[in-house]
Amino acid sequence: MPRVYNWQINREMEYPYPAAAPQRQFAAVFDINKCIACQTCTLACKNAWTAGRGQEYMLWNNVETKPYGFYPLGWDVNVLRLLGPQSWQGDTYTGMTIFEAAAKNEEGRVAVGYIPDEQDWATPNIGEDEAAGLVQGGAYFTLPHPVWSFYLQRVCNHCSYPACLAACPRKAIYKRPEDGIVLIDQERCRGYRECLRSCPFKKVMYNQVTRVSEKCIACYPRVEQGLQPFCTINCIGRIRINGWIQQPAEADPESPVDFLVHARKVALPLYPQFGLGVNIYYIPPIHVPPPYLRQMFGPRVEAAIATYRRAKDDPDLLGVLLLQGATDRWIEKFRVRGGEAIGYDARGDEVARVPLKEPVYIRPEFDRALAVFRQNIT
Ligand code: SF4
Ligand code: SF4
Repeated sequence: MPRVYNWQINREMEYPYPAAAPQRQFAAVFDINKCIACQTCTLACKNAWTAGRGQEYMLWNNVETKPYGFYPLGWDVNVLRLLGPQSWQGDTYTGMTIFEAAAKNEEGRVAVGYIPDEQDWATPNIGEDEAAGLVQGGAYFTLPHPVWSFYLQRVCNHCSYPACLAACPRKAIYKRPEDGIVLIDQERCRGYRECLRSCPFKKVMYNQVTRVSEKCIACYPRVEQGLQPFCTINCIGRIRINGWIQQPAEADPESPVDFLVHARKVALPLYPQFGLGVNIYYIPPIHVPPPYLRQMFGPRVEAAIATYRRAKDDPDLLGVLLLQGATDRWIEKFRVRGGEAIGYDARGDEVARVPLKEPVYIRPEFDRALAVFRQNIT
């Protein structure tokens, strides 16, 4: 098997195809701390792309409440169990990726994985935020750990080393050279579901009516027009921003995603140990115990949280975070000047401007025009 370099695990790894980096790579950063699980992103995507026959159960974008929420049921617990022990030495992953584990243990498969049961997709977020039955007056329950939970926003990661693409016997899955978006050719697909078995994030979904597989398309018709995807622009919590990501050595500190991932290292890949080189990054939740977060986002979690906590003293970091959700346009570059964060499109035109500090207006107590008294609440 060819060897490719995966910077997220700081080493070379085995992958069925030689590295073929796109001209530029679609990416996004989600700030978990700001998500309120309103599912507006989920429905924006659903209305746009999966309102057809056979797509009823599909949520290309979903938001699940960790640690007990899943879509499909148990997806990450199941894959982590199949992968076996995982270990890091510093920034280097010393365990096996899903490709290496398959090469060692599963003859004929490119990645360890499984196909979820139909029922596993049926009830996203079952039992997370609501009681399972009637609650008697005075009843209460206890939990075995200090109470915490957080919302995990999930879309296809448009991976640099996609397991879905590697596993497809029809070569129906391809990575676009112009932007790194991973798509399934609906004409070539025969519905074997090897992509679904191998994607550890379970972000390929099978359509029982058309009998082919489907997945998040990164809203590529919007990206081609310099617009951000629907899930990003509809986000109520303004937790999302899209951008291009480079390799660490070529990072552009004026690109929002490069800045958050490579310059400040505050945004981390999800399950880097899988070995896919994912391109969706997360700012980890600051209130969650680090051991849980380390198994999910790798060894840089504590440093990322410390950096995030200092954002109020870091105008550039604060500026990018405030540009999240500030425009529907794709922000190629940003700058912070005179107390404002400014975003620019590919032509260098300004597309967003936000103040680092919200201005406070104190109105006169008596409004003469309306002849009313006002209260200023501070
Ligand atoms: S997240 Fe899954 S479906 Fe998306 S590119 Fe990666 S392997 Fe393929
Ligand atoms: S729209 Fe934004 S805040 Fe609401 S669930 Fe989605 S990511 Fe979270």
